[in-house]
This record gives sequence, structure tokens and C-alpha cells, in this order.
Amino acid sequence: MAGYEASEEDLALSPDALPPDAPAADSFVHSRLLDSVASFTHHRDIAALDHSLVLSLAELTAARRVVLAKRALDGAYVEAIMCCTPDAQGVYRLQADDPDAIDPALKLLHRCMHRLDVQTETVQGLHRLVVPILCDGRAIGALQLDSDLPPAASRSLTEGFARIYANYTVLLHESEHDKLTGLYNRRSLERQLQRLLHQHEQTLRVLPPARAVPGEPAAEPPQVWLAILDIDHFKRINDTYGHIYGDEVILLLAQQMRACFRRSDVLFRFGGEEFVILFGAASEGIVHAVLERFRQRIAEHVFPQVGSVTVSIGYAGVGRHDYPASALDRADKALYYAKQHGRNGTCGYESLSARGLLGREMAAGSIDLF
Ligand code: GH3
Ligand code: MG
Ligand code: MG
Repeated sequence: MAGYEASEEDLALSPDALPPDAPAADSFVHSRLLDSVASFTHHRDIAALDHSLVLSLAELTAARRVVLAKRALDGAYVEAIMCCTPDAQGVYRLQADDPDAIDPALKLLHRCMHRLDVQTETVQGLHRLVVPILCDGRAIGALQLDSDLPPAASRSLTEGFARIYANYTVLLHESEHDKLTGLYNRRSLERQLQRLLHQHEQTLRVLPPARAVPGEPAAEPPQVWLAILDIDHFKRINDTYGHIYGDEVILLLAQQMRACFRRSDVLFRFGGEEFVILFGAASEGIVHAVLERFRQRIAEHVFPQVGSVTVSIGYAGVGRHDYPASALDRADKALYYAKQHGRNGTCGYESLSARGLLGREMAAGSIDLF
């Protein structure tokens, strides 16, 4: 992820700039604090909230390093690490670190999430403070500060931020996720698609230019793909077994999606029994193979009471400047084709249209677009 530079306005309000005994110092610090809280709770998406939290805490405590570790609200593994350190000019920079890397400097942070309690240690003359971010009795993450000052100087501030962050994360999470399955909801599609496109653009920028090996095609850069998945004859499932079993099928299908797709793939429940998947892949061949594997897995799965359930899948590539509605529309046309040609199949828009199979009858797809 690209570094994030603190704004001039942020830096101008550095606590170092305060005259130590000024009578107005307390109210200045309080208003600076309120500014920080107001600015980080202003965000409406979790990534921006994370950035703002880490940066505010680093600036308010003048820490040498602030780390935010995050777990999924319903998972035990760390899914993201955000780190903030000052550069040579003293400007705080944000960086996303690999959550799977084993970093000895984060040992105390993992212990803190396990023990659900504040931890401190001194490492090479620096004071380390780790505060858990608690939600319903479990740690959904932790904040680690490395500082020249003893932990008492920033403990209550960090604990306060951790509490506000936990409450606010839960609210944002609820607004972005589907209640039944826990997958992202339709509302968050646009934001997630923009995020993924941006991430891929960054990756393309740092990749060395593809070197053509004589006799072999040059390696293709990854691209973003959007797939729509719709359960076949779902009305029959509802009619035969009732809505409760229908809901159960939706829930179990979402669990299968989680188990089958990679952590970096973004999964949505888009509507009743329709799902969307966003992911990066270098070629249509790979996309097709991944989706086909999932389709077959579902066709072979035995759902309790209901037995066999099949799905149809349509997918399309997403261009850098694509509107979500256009990408959805193309994937939906491919899905419609799969439904028209026997269901329980996977179809890609690009290859259908290259083969001239998307005639005028395909003008209207099957899903309701916004
Ligand atoms: P097709 O193979 O063409 O997709 O047939 P289908 O019967 O699945 O048709 P369609 O996708 O149009 O219909 C979906 C049905 O799913 C309509 C609605 O009764 C049902 N449904 C929508 N949302 C929910 C939900 O949250 N729970 C349950 N149990 N059923 C739902
Ligand atoms: Mg449907
Ligand atoms: Mg259906």
C-alpha cells in the first residue's frame, strides 16, 4: 500500500508546538483530542478509519511507531497490520504489513490479544505499550505504541481510542455486511471494487515490465474480475422445504464460498440468493478454472435435508475505469446465458461475446441493477 503523508494542518498542531506551562495548554490538548476523534469517526469505511486512528494516535503521542493489528470480527487470525512511523523529515507514514509474516516486534501484540489485557515492555530503550481492542469479551485487534516516554503517558489515551474504535468498527461492519451470511452486502460493492482496482494499479506500477521469453508468450499482468453466482431453481427449494431451509442453504453456500476462495477475494451476498465475487487473476482461463471448481464443489455437496443444490455463474473482466454497473451488467449477461443453457454452468462474457453468442436476446440480463 502506498505511504500516507500527514497533512500540513495535522503537523502544525503537533503537541511539541505547545508552550509547556501555557494556561491554555489543557484546553488546547482537549480540543486537539476532540478534533482527532471527530476526524477519525467521520470516516464511513473501515480502511479510512484505520488510517486515521493510527495516524491520530501517532501524532498525539509523538510515538516512534504505532501498529494496529486487526482480526476479523468473527475470526481468530490477524487479517491486517497497519504500521505508522515517521520518515527522515519526521512526517508520519502509513504502511500495510503482511499479516502472515512472523515479526518478533509483534510478539507482545499477539500475547495482548490472547490475554485481553494491556501489556508493556522495554525494548532497546524504547517503551512498548500494547492495548487490546475489545468487543463482546474478545480482542478484535490491538494497538501497539513504541515511544520514548513511559507507558503511563499514553495509556489512557490509547485505551480510550481503542474503545471508540471498537464501537465504531462494529457499527461500520454492520452497515457493510449482510446479517445472515456475514459477507459484504450490495451497498459495499462499489467501494470494494474501487479499492481492488486501485490495489491492482499499484501492483502493476511496481511490477517489472514483462520480459518475453523467446518462444513463450509474455506473462500477463493480473486483472480484476467480477463474477455473479445465482442458485438454480431456488424457488423450488423454498416451496418444497420452506424459507427456513432456504435461508440455511444460503448460509451454507456462503460458508462454502469462504472456504473455497482466497482471503484476498472479496465476497458479497448481492441479493436473495445471488452472490458476487471480486478477485484478481492473470487470465480468463484461470478465472474460469477457479469458478468451475467452486461450481462443481457445490454440485457435489450434500445440503442437509435439501440434498443437491446447483449454481450458475457468469463473470466478466473489470476495466480500470469501469462503472460497477457496467461490469455487473456484462457478468449478468453471461449468467443469463448459463441459465438459458441448462444451468449448473460457468460462462464468461468475454469468451461468449468473442464467439458471437451474446445476441440481441441477451440485452436484458436476469438481475436487478440498482
Ligand atoms: P433460477 O434458476 O432461474 O435462478 O430460478 P430461481 O427459482 O432461483 O429464480 P430466482 O433466482 O428468480 O428467484 C429467487 C427466489 O429466491 C425468489 C425468492 O422467493 C427467493 N428468495 C429471495 N431472497 C430470499 C431469502 O433471503 N431467503 C429465502 N429463503 N428465499 C429468498
Ligand atoms: Mg436470483
Ligand atoms: Mg436463482
